[in-house]
Amino acid sequence: KAKELGISNFRFFTGELGEQASSRLLLENSLRRGLERDEFRLVYQPKYDLREDRVSGMEALLRWHAPDRVIPPWEFIPLAEETGLILPLGEWVFREVCRQVSLWTDEGYPPPEVAVNLSARQFHQDGLVSVLKAAMDEYSVSPSRIGIEITESGIMEDLVDSVAILSAVKDLGMTVYVDDFGTGYSSLNYLKRLPIDVLKIDKSFVEGVLEDRNDAAITRAVIGLGRSLGMAVVAEGVETREQLDFLRQNGCDGIQGYLLSPPLPPGETLRFRKAGHTPLFPA
Ligand code: C2E
Ligand code: MG
Ligand code: MG
Ligand code: MG
Repeated sequence: KAKELGISNFRFFTGELGEQASSRLLLENSLRRGLERDEFRLVYQPKYDLREDRVSGMEALLRWHAPDRVIPPWEFIPLAEETGLILPLGEWVFREVCRQVSLWTDEGYPPPEVAVNLSARQFHQDGLVSVLKAAMDEYSVSPSRIGIEITESGIMEDLVDSVAILSAVKDLGMTVYVDDFGTGYSSLNYLKRLPIDVLKIDKSFVEGVLEDRNDAAITRAVIGLGRSLGMAVVAEGVETREQLDFLRQNGCDGIQGYLLSPPLPPGETLRFRKAGHTPLFPA
């Protein structure tokens, strides 16, 4: 790990625990430096509305272009959360999305919406809503063009706080997504009291929807739950036409996944921002 990070003579610790601690410290330091050196980039993954047959927006996903390789979020988001670095990093992500949306608007092809992932710690941070509002104001971006994605477990961590934050976010006119739905432990009784627009079915269920009866049952149940609570349901991780057909037949509102497109660098998104009502998946 130390070598990978390009710092090989850093050996104050010995033993397994020591090595873990030192590699965490190395990662933390290089995260900090990465932020200072502007090594983070966003890629954008389109979403598709199955009811209107159109691209409905995109999701911003974070990539760390470290000196030696591109590092995916699962390798550094957990540590960024623990150390608190997620706060400056998350703010950078949100501002960068606003900047990009404003550029795309000037260019004449803004996407209908861009959604930003918020980690639990960032979501429950004091003053979050004013940070979001300040960034949208600074770049003159309408909140109706921005969504937030927060995981089910992030919401359930502190329900009272979540109700207040989500209400404030909704009042601004932003869209609220619950990410990775089905993997946490939602209180269904609370779910109905939360101002949520969209449930995103976790890709682990979508993956097995054709072979695994349980995955198919859970997926149908989430679609039904969303419908009865007045929320839209979007499936993530859709890779095949057969999965899409299953989802459409069962009333799913939208999809996202490699079948439509992998996450793309901003310069490669034009065809999705221009797509309008072109049906990409005729029934
Ligand atoms: P997520 O928000 O649930 O994002 C979906 C993940 O699935 C993304 O991984 C995406 O690249 C991947 N994916 C999309 N389509 C497919 C598909 O068809 N098949 C498969 N197997 N995978 C697909 P990624 O980009 O590595 O992000 C992983 C997670 O990291 C995200 O999960 C999100 O929780 C977190 N994350 C990403 N960007 C940010 C960020 O800016 N801030 C925070 N706090 N978390 C982020
Ligand atoms: Mg997400
Ligand atoms: Mg997700
Ligand atoms: Mg997921």
